[in-house]
Amino acid sequence: MATPSTRQGEARSTATTDRRGHDVLQSHAPATGVLLGEVPISSPEEVRGAVARARRAQEAWGLLPLAERSERVLRYRGALVDRAEEVVDLISRECGKPKQEALLHEVAPIADLTTYYAKRAGKSLARREIEMHLMKHKRAHVHYAPRGVVGIISPWNFPFSITMGDAIAALIAGNAVVVKPSEVTPLVLQKAKEIWDATGLAEDLFQVVHGYGGTGAALIDAGVDKIVFTGGVATGKRVAAMCGERLIPCTLELGGKAPLIACADADVERTARAIVFGGFANSGQICVSVERVYAHEAIHDRLLERVVGLVSELRQGDPQSASVDVGAVTFPKQLEIAEAHLRDAIGKGAELRAGGKRRAGQGMFFEPTILARCDHRMTVMTEEIFGPIVPFMKVSTEEEAIALANDSHLGLNAYVFTKDRERGGRIAERVVAGSVLVNDVLVNHACPETPFGGVKQSGIGRVHGEDALREMCEVRHVMVDRVPSLERDPIWFPYTPELLKWAFKGARALFGGGSLASKLGELL
Ligand code: NAD
Repeated sequence: MATPSTRQGEARSTATTDRRGHDVLQSHAPATGVLLGEVPISSPEEVRGAVARARRAQEAWGLLPLAERSERVLRYRGALVDRAEEVVDLISRECGKPKQEALLHEVAPIADLTTYYAKRAGKSLARREIEMHLMKHKRAHVHYAPRGVVGIISPWNFPFSITMGDAIAALIAGNAVVVKPSEVTPLVLQKAKEIWDATGLAEDLFQVVHGYGGTGAALIDAGVDKIVFTGGVATGKRVAAMCGERLIPCTLELGGKAPLIACADADVERTARAIVFGGFANSGQICVSVERVYAHEAIHDRLLERVVGLVSELRQGDPQSASVDVGAVTFPKQLEIAEAHLRDAIGKGAELRAGGKRRAGQGMFFEPTILARCDHRMTVMTEEIFGPIVPFMKVSTEEEAIALANDSHLGLNAYVFTKDRERGGRIAERVVAGSVLVNDVLVNHACPETPFGGVKQSGIGRVHGEDALREMCEVRHVMVDRVPSLERDPIWFPYTPELLKWAFKGARALFGGGSLASKLGELL
């Protein structure tokens, strides 16, 4: 076997060659370092071949009635849930997250999303009549046609739920899917594919290709009809540029920097527990993790004390144990990023209130960390952390909190805590983010009905909900006359002075300042 060469995934996943000389990705458990398995790296030709096979399989799939497609995808849900323990075990080992999170944040939400789309797709993708406001003699409708082959490029933090959520939506909408999972966690999607094939569904309809960024680029270049990309902002920009050159639509789900505004009247206990859960679930490696807290001075000190107390009760360790709250960090680079944020913040006057270092010994663990006295000169308040650090900043007014929450190049999730729900709703509408939750954290990603996605540099487009299902389709418009057509429409050739005169008269009558319509209010 050749010496492993490390690339983007560094120590976590290594590229090497197997006995037959094939390039493979090896995946190691972040909590133990144990080798979990390996997958072959797909060459650009293999990626093109996968897309071509997917296209052939889609032809029959796209013609099936939607109810039939939904019923078949529900069979996959059944098989998945029957094998949930096996899938949960692998997600936990490969990502280093507790089994509860593997089940409740990954497998169960996908079973629920499948149910939702299977039930709702008929309505969401039904042919939609369009009421004509001027040309009443025309009848128009739109229908939603599958795009063809959807390419999905996904990250390592939720290797199952992010990838499969997009895949299920694409499949129910009538597409075939080719997935390029993260090189850091390739085995989870390999398992998802194994279950798909065992369910007896057309194998070529859902395919997985493996490798680093180059394999993702090869997928974009392989003739797909849409890309759904989830990952970092810098990669997202490269993906968007490639899609732009090929004029392929792309949905981009990128980074987050979720602020949590704790108002003066917030319930301290609930807010503190939400900060600890929202900041340290999956070791803070969630695009919607609580990444900065703006606490009103009236409750700041009590809230901080309670959070520090709760953090001291967290049990960190082997994620396979059902009594562990916080597991390992999945991606080794995150340890260095966390340390760099800490050095910067403490150097600029932040106060370390809990945690603050990686754990010595086996596995990649970083202590749940709380910083106080933070401000926007520090990267920990302005750049994505994607690790177990929660910085606090004291604010004097609600206005100040809103302005600081909006002082970011990112806008994915945001959180507002207050006992006054009306006020919470008002503040929520002023925060510039794709989703704002009042008195809760994280949960929206598990709600398949609500659109999920970012504004600003957090992305373009939405996953989940009706919008995402429709984005998996081409919107095609059909127009037909309600009455028998004339031999020649009056506005067609030949143009005449008489026609021009009547056209001016018509425009004045319909839209002019003194027109009947404007006198009677907006008739048109
Ligand atoms: P990443 O951008 O490094 O990689 C994401 C995927 O893109 C991987 O599969 C990678 O192999 C592939 N890739 C890399 N270069 C490519 C290229 N040039 N062309 C095509 N594909 C390429 O991100 P990551 O480290 O895997 O994930 C962490 C990031 O993802 C964080 O910024 C996080 O906020 C973000 N994220 C966003 C969401 C969301 O829904 N908005 C969800 C989860 C994670």
